[in-house]
Amino acid sequence: MTEQTHQAPCVLVTGGAGYIGSHTLVSLVEAGYRPLVLDNFSNSARQAIERVGVLCGETPECIEGDIRDRSCLDDIFQRHPVTAVIHFAGLKSVGESVREPLRYYDNNVAGSVTLLQAMQAAGVDTLVFSSSATVYAPGVTMPVAEDAPLGPINPYGQSKLMVEQVIRDHCLAHPTFRAALLRYFNPTGAHPSGKLGESPRGTPENLVPYIAQVATGVRDALTVFGNDYDTVDGTGVRDYIHVMDLAEGHVHALDALRERTGAHTWNLGTGTGYSVLEMVRAYEKACGREIAYTVGERRPGDVGTCYACTRKAASELHWQASRDLEEMMRDNWRWQVSQDA
Ligand code: NAD
Ligand code: UDP
Repeated sequence: MTEQTHQAPCVLVTGGAGYIGSHTLVSLVEAGYRPLVLDNFSNSARQAIERVGVLCGETPECIEGDIRDRSCLDDIFQRHPVTAVIHFAGLKSVGESVREPLRYYDNNVAGSVTLLQAMQAAGVDTLVFSSSATVYAPGVTMPVAEDAPLGPINPYGQSKLMVEQVIRDHCLAHPTFRAALLRYFNPTGAHPSGKLGESPRGTPENLVPYIAQVATGVRDALTVFGNDYDTVDGTGVRDYIHVMDLAEGHVHALDALRERTGAHTWNLGTGTGYSVLEMVRAYEKACGREIAYTVGERRPGDVGTCYACTRKAASELHWQASRDLEEMMRDNWRWQVSQDA
């Protein structure tokens, strides 16, 4: 271990082997932090940490364990000088959460409560939490700001809102505690090196991973979920954000919490929406292949349009997304190609 890494502040990253977590490890190392990963690999593999090591020149320490395991957490806090926690660990499939709500509430809500209890016992008072734009109520005005009405319509979204509430209440009871509740819009793309990206298991639920699998020939055609929305071409509009912009947002959140206590909510999006068909065309341009698609029914629970108001994050986090759609699609494709190589 170099002297610099020895002195670098240690940040526990739960779920650090996952898609957003692994990219955030890169940003943390670049910003001079020493990330320490806790992951149960339920939706990832240790290989992601090794890839981060290749990119950063040092492999973050990674502990295999579960956020619901209090003794594992106590042991981590006892052995490592953790100054802050970035909490990505969670289950994230909307459809699965409808079928198995108890698993989602246990993993996402009970797991977060256990983590907070262990942090309190260890005197660690800084937390960055992965929330989601799914906490907003359907029908809110776009661009959606942090103070818009809340009302998730599936157990996954409910689990995120519940954890936000748990954290807010914890902050009220413990005035030295500080937390960033980061509401992500639609992360996509990959590290520009092509060495790190998203590896969805099974059939992807999200648009870009599905398009990527059509491009690589794993799937025949995309089903566009409805073309009768009140949007530019009738297909759903979302705020896609490059995963490296999102990753850097976490470093800014850690910095912002240095001068704040209490719970703070920030949207992490670009403020720009693209339709499904615009995404298809952008991916076609990046990969040089045609993306076959058919138009199907609307997906239950989908809204027509969702994009972020980014003002609060810009003024308080001094952060805004800088990578455009072309870069997101190009980096995604580079990652697909490098996996096949
Ligand atoms: P991911 O599934 O790739 O990463 C989550 C990681 O957490 C995985 O490595 C998984 O193995 C780990 N994990 C799950 N439960 C755990 C547990 N009990 N103990 C330890 N590790 C556990 O997902 P992601 O896309 O990187 O998302 C990270 C976070 O951001 C999640 O909380 C997700 O809900 C949230 N989020 C994701 C999106 C998105 O579109 N990807 C959007 C909004 C919010
Ligand atoms: N979508 C689609 N076909 C798919 C997956 C998604 O048409 O196979 C659409 C979906 O209806 C939405 C957009 O793509 O309008 C983004 O969906 P995703 O699930 O990626 O994100 P979310 O809806 O959670 O914002």
